[in-house]
Amino acid sequence: WRPATAIPQQALAALPKGAEVEIHGVSKSFGDLKVLDDIALTFPAGSVTAIIGPSGSGKSTLLRTINHLERVDRGLIAVDGELIGYRRDGDALHELREKDILARRTEIGMVFQNFNLFPHLTVLENITEAPVTVRGLSRPEAEAQARELLARVGLEDKADAYPRQLSGGQQQRVAIARTLALRPKVLLFDEPTSALDPELVGEVLDVIKELARSGITLVIVTHEIGFAREVADSIVFMEQGRVIEAGAPDQILTRPKHPRTAAFLAKVL
Ligand code: ADP
Ligand code: MG
Repeated sequence: WRPATAIPQQALAALPKGAEVEIHGVSKSFGDLKVLDDIALTFPAGSVTAIIGPSGSGKSTLLRTINHLERVDRGLIAVDGELIGYRRDGDALHELREKDILARRTEIGMVFQNFNLFPHLTVLENITEAPVTVRGLSRPEAEAQARELLARVGLEDKADAYPRQLSGGQQQRVAIARTLALRPKVLLFDEPTSALDPELVGEVLDVIKELARSGITLVIVTHEIGFAREVADSIVFMEQGRVIEAGAPDQILTRPKHPRTAAFLAKVL
C-alpha cells in the first residue's frame, strides 16, 4: 500500500468532472413508515458531503433513491440538471422509462458496506465486467483502464487474485476501483468502512480522501466523524427521515444549532 500522494496526476485527470445533485421535496415510505420526509439538499458539482445520523434515520434509503435503486413517492432528484426520479402528488405520475433510468444510473457509482465483489471473478475481471458489458469497451481497453485504477488504489499486484484472497480493506479498494471503471460523475459511499477491522479503515479512507481531491462529486454516509471533518465540504445530519441540519463541518460538529445534532454528537464523539 503506497501513500495516496504517490498516485500520478495523470490518473487523477482520467476521471470525469463531478455533477451537481439536486434533491427537492423527496419523500418515501415503506408501508406506514415514513423513511424520507420532504428532503431538500443540493450537492454542488465536485463537492464532498458527509451524511451522519443514527441508525434507521434514512441515510441508506436516501443514497439508494439518488442511485435509483429505490423510487421516491414524491419529489424530484436531478443529476447534472437531468431528472432521475420525479413524482408529484395529485398529478399524473411522471416516470422515466427504464432504459433512460439505466443510462443515467451508470453516471452514479455506489460503494457498499460489504464490498459486493463477484466472488467467482478475479480482481481484474470484477473491474472489467461492467465496462465491457455496459459501456461496450473492448477487453484490452477495459483491462488497461482496470490496471490504471488498481494502481490508483494501490493494488496493481492483485489483478489476478480472487476476492477471498484479499483483506477487507483490499476488497473495498477493489470495489472502489470497480465503481470508478464506469466513470461516474457522482460517487455514493454507504458506510464504506463499517465492515472493516479497525486497522484496515485507514487505507480505505486514504483512497476516498484522494478521490475527494479529484473533482468527482462525493456523498459519504459515515460514522467516522473525524474523517468527515477532514474531507467534507459540508455535513448533513439526518434523523427520522429528515434533514435536521446541514452546513460546514466546523459549524455542525462544534457549534450545532439543533439540540438533536448536539445530542447525537455527544454520543458518537
Ligand atoms: P440508515 O441507513 O440511516 O440506518 P435506512 O435508510 O437503512 O437507515 O432505513 C431507514 C428505515 O427504513 C429503517 O427503519 C429501516 O428499517 C426501513 N427500511 C429500509 N429499507 C426498507 C425496505 N426495503 N422495506 C421496509 N423497510 C425498510
Ligand atoms: Mg444505512
